[in-house]
Formats: sequence, C-alpha cells, structure tokens
Amino acid sequence: MAIPALERDADLIGHSTFRLPATAAHLFRLGSLDDLTLISELPKPVLVIGQGSNTLFLDDWPGTVLINEIMGITHEVREDQVHVQVGAGESWHGFVLHCLSQGWHGLENLALIPGSVGAAPIQNIGAYGVELASFVERILAWDSQQHRLITLSANACQFAYRDSLFKQPQGQHLIILRVDLCLSLQFSPQLHYPALQNALKARGLDDNPSPDQLVQTIIALRRERLPDPMKVANVGSFFKNPIVDEAKHSDLVKSHPSLPAWPIEGKQENHPISYKVSAAWMIDQLGFRGQSVGQVSVSEAHALVLINQGHGRAEELVELMEMIQRAVQKEFGVSLETEPRLIQR
Ligand SMILES: Cc1cc2nc3c(=O)[nH]c(=O)nc-3n(C[C@H](O)[C@H](O)[C@H](O)COP(=O)(O)OP(=O)(O)OC[C@H]3O[C@@H](n4cnc5c(N)ncnc54)[C@H](O)[C@@H]3O)c2cc1C
Repeated sequence: MAIPALERDADLIGHSTFRLPATAAHLFRLGSLDDLTLISELPKPVLVIGQGSNTLFLDDWPGTVLINEIMGITHEVREDQVHVQVGAGESWHGFVLHCLSQGWHGLENLALIPGSVGAAPIQNIGAYGVELASFVERILAWDSQQHRLITLSANACQFAYRDSLFKQPQGQHLIILRVDLCLSLQFSPQLHYPALQNALKARGLDDNPSPDQLVQTIIALRRERLPDPMKVANVGSFFKNPIVDEAKHSDLVKSHPSLPAWPIEGKQENHPISYKVSAAWMIDQLGFRGQSVGQVSVSEAHALVLINQGHGRAEELVELMEMIQRAVQKEFGVSLETEPRLIQR
C-alpha cells in the first residue's frame, strides 16, 4: 500500500537537539489515531521520536523515523483533583504552562523541560525533586507487535529514576499516544530541593511562592544552568547520576568527602538504602569542563552537558563520551550510563 506523506531520504539534523548529521530512509508524521493501521505498512525498522531532545543519531536510520504529532488536551474535575488526558505530540513545557493557567497543580517544578508529552514517561522526566511518575494514572499506547491499542496502569509502566518499561526490550514496541495524569486543584509546592530553596530565598520567596512565582523561578534557574538547545546544540544531562549501594557510597565518601550524594530508599535488592551520586561533580573533579574532541565539548557551564559547537560528528561525540566514562571508572570505580538514547544501526 502506498502511504501518503511518507518522506524519503529525510534530513534528521533538525530532529535531534544535538544536531549530528544523519538521514532517515523514510520519515512519517503520525497526526491522528486514524493512521495507526498504517504503522505496520511503514518500511522497517521504525523508530518513534518526539522533539529529539533526548535522542542522538550516530548513524543514518535505515527504516522509518515516525514523529508523533498527536495533539489534544481534555480534562475532568472530580472533587479537588483534575484528571487530564494529553496527546503525545503536545509540547511538554506548553502543557505545563497550560496547567498553570488553568490552576491545575503538581507539575510546576518540571517547567521548561524540552520535548514532547509522549516522551516524558520514557525516562520518567524529573527535575528539582519532582518526577512525572507521581502524576501518571495511565498511558494509552499502540502495541506495534500485536497491532492494537493498549492501556497501561502507572504500575505497569515500571517507573524508576530516568527509567521505565518503555526503555526495556519488552516495552520498546509500544508507541505512546496519550498520557493521563492526575493533578490537584490545591497548590502544595515541592520546595525541598536545595538549589530551588536557594533560588527562592534569593528572590525573597522562600516562605510561600505562588504557582506562577515557582514556575518563573524554575525557568530562571534552568536558564542559568543549562544551555538553550535552540542556541547551543545539546541534549541536557548526558549521563545519569550513578546509583551505588551503601558500602560503595561509604568507600566513595572516605576517598572523596565532598562528593554530593542523595539517599534513595529500597531501590536495590538486599540493600535497604542506596545512593544517587553526582556524575557532574565527578566529571568536574577530573577536569573535563570545557574539554573538546573536535567540535564536541563538555559545557563550560555544566559538566554534565555535552555540546555540539556546530559541526560535531558522531565519532567525536563517542570519543569524548568514552574518555569521560573511562576516567570516571578509573578514579571512582563507578560506571556512567548515558541518559539520552544513542541511535546506532
Ligand atoms: C536543555 C535540556 C534540558 C533537559 N532537562 C531535563 C530534565 O531536567 N529532566 C529530564 O528528565 N530530562 C531533561 N532533558 C531530556 C529531555 O528533555 C526529555 O527526555 C524529554 O522527555 C525528551 O522529549 P522528546 O520529545 O524530545 O524525546 P525524543 O528525544 O524525541 O525521544 C526520547 C526517547 O523517547 C522515545 N519516544 C519519544 N516519543 C515516544 C512515543 N510517543 N512513544 C514511544 N517512545 C517515544 C524515543 O524513541 C527516544 O528513545 C533535557 C534535555 C535538554 C536538551
């Protein structure tokens, strides 16, 4: 069957905020649930993306890149909660601002995270002490193996730190179409994150910020700390903060007393407490800030962010990434996992 609007030899440079040169043999925009049956006809393999702010193309894509553009926001108020259904193609930050304007609360700390609503559950986006998982009720997805719609409960999504079912081999055939969230009509701000507390204090808002003041503070904080992907090509944090058990944490703080670490309860088997340790701090200690391989550099502003200065190539990125991973492993005995998805054939 000929598929309408299937682009050929599509340039992918504008479909990843890291802007490495790459092409897709085919590109398809999914704009409506009516087109779901076309998915099985698309040239394989099929890769789903949103706005490409957590995706790097290290190679050309031999099959179809499917861009999810399903839009729409509906809601229902029940007592002091609002149940919101959001199309996967909506912009995440646009949606957070929409919630703010409607008096729906909970997502304030997640303002200005780039990307689409449909990608937000993939790595369970989080910032300033809040994670998406706390609000998800269910997810509507297209099962591209069984060719049918399925609904997943929040539990079935297996959310964890920058992780979910959708990143596992058993979840990678699921295309998220709609995310259902439960938000609150009451404003109960989450202000415990130290950098947020300091920023609120500096603005004289530490006691009781309004929802709008909280969102504006988050936006200002993010603009200070992270390069704008529209101006400087990047994908945000390049590495996850590693999670270590209690024994490893205690070794690390003995040898590196100022290593920032945050306890996480009950995440690892047989270890009641594990710790998330700062990848940025370790990379900084090793002197990588500002270092480059060709046109790919570690940001001067934030050691966890790699940037493409304009004409970066996949080989340069991989060389810099592996240099950092080897050095961190050697000095701290910890392996750094990448946060964005690296697309290779
Ligand atoms: C400057 C900057 C700051 C950032 N800050 C944060 C932060 O604070 N916290 C945080 O958690 N992240 C952060 N990120 C990462 C990024 O914003 C999020 O991961 C975001 O959710 C990615 O959305 P996207 O639409 O661009 O995803 P894409 O890059 O298009 O896709 C990401 C992954 O999701 C898959 N995917 C996308 N859409 C779908 C779908 N509908 N169904 C199934 N799979 C899908 C893709 O295959 C890919 O594996 C930041 C990125 C940048 C550039």
